[in-house]
Amino acid sequence: MTFVTAIIAAGGRGTRFGAGAPKQLLMVGDRPILERSVTAFVDHPSVHEVVVAIPHELVSDPPGYLRHATKPLQIVAGGSRRQDSVANAFHAASGQTEVVVIHDAVRPFVSADVIARTIAAAAEWGAALAAMPARDTVKRAELVCRDARDQAGAPLAARSVSNGEVVVAQTLPRETIFLAQTPQAFRREVLREALALGVDATDEAALAERTGHRVRLVEGEASNIKITTPEDLVIAEAIARSGRGASRADRAFSRAGTGYDLHRLVAGRPLVLGGVTVASDVGALGHSDADVVCHAVTDAILGGASRGDIGRHFPDSDPRWKDASSLDLLARAARLVRDDGLEIGNVDVTVILERPKIRNQIEAMRSAVATALGVGIADVSIKAKTNEGFDAIGRGEAVAAHAIAMLWPFGMQP
Ligand code: MG
Repeated sequence: MTFVTAIIAAGGRGTRFGAGAPKQLLMVGDRPILERSVTAFVDHPSVHEVVVAIPHELVSDPPGYLRHATKPLQIVAGGSRRQDSVANAFHAASGQTEVVVIHDAVRPFVSADVIARTIAAAAEWGAALAAMPARDTVKRAELVCRDARDQAGAPLAARSVSNGEVVVAQTLPRETIFLAQTPQAFRREVLREALALGVDATDEAALAERTGHRVRLVEGEASNIKITTPEDLVIAEAIARSGRGASRADRAFSRAGTGYDLHRLVAGRPLVLGGVTVASDVGALGHSDADVVCHAVTDAILGGASRGDIGRHFPDSDPRWKDASSLDLLARAARLVRDDGLEIGNVDVTVILERPKIRNQIEAMRSAVATALGVGIADVSIKAKTNEGFDAIGRGEAVAAHAIAMLWPFGMQP
């Protein structure tokens, strides 16, 4: 399998929209443009890591959606030119990288198909870019002096020369004209060579062309628009409403997650289940309070959001989480899931414990877990079983819990 690094070029500071923030941070259809672009690559099965180049002043406090990702995601400072941002990101790429796919942050509707096509073509050809065939007839223009209308024109150097008129120099055969989009993808060594040129270019493909590499064109998509003007933003809102660029938070489907946890039971430890301390001569061994109910539910809601597991967000190697209350970690996980645009529908837990009986504490556990999750007690079910004397749990040497959670995109829960 080819190791693929995605670079999102988001270093621009263009604030043409007057919003005071770079345009890649603006919202389209209730989601930031940059979050949409980054998610397209984080969620893509062919991409192994993502490097995002953002304006340097944002690096120390990046937007929340760049802080939690289901794949390795690095943030680097952008440079003054686009290619400088790409070079900084390329520098940060993994040593294993074989293909680099580069995407403009301000193209939030790129599809998984276009990404896959571009990566596959670059792996085979060395360089590839998504492009659209020109639909309009294409004219090459030149500038002539206003008072020399009959004289041959000069090459069009600038469109704003005051004493000139722009005229048609040539009609180009339309079938040879393609409009470049991103993604653009390159085998590692091709991109290294291209960036080493150090010349100005509006895209990386142009640099690869100058180093003599063949750049393969693959089919882009009309909806893969680049948002550069306020008019583009209007079109982008329409595309967002049509459902294009839908990610996990946009899909009107419920999501399920499961969790499982087990801790050894030893003397001299408290037995905490669902945030409730249960009277017992043995307790669960582990970092924090070793609450298997909270740990299983935490994994279930993180799993439903495809956000990894409890160990990734709250590693026990981090002193911050040593002796942390598992209810608190559960509440943090619930916030993380909500930041993803998901709300918690219900959770159902089975605790497997030989003794003591916990029947009388189950209501208190449901209440504590519901509070941590920010849901009603009716949406939290906790059941208890024994293991009928079998295995370690049956011998009273361990306690375990299974959990399932249903998550819904906000506003979608029936
Ligand atoms: Mg645990």
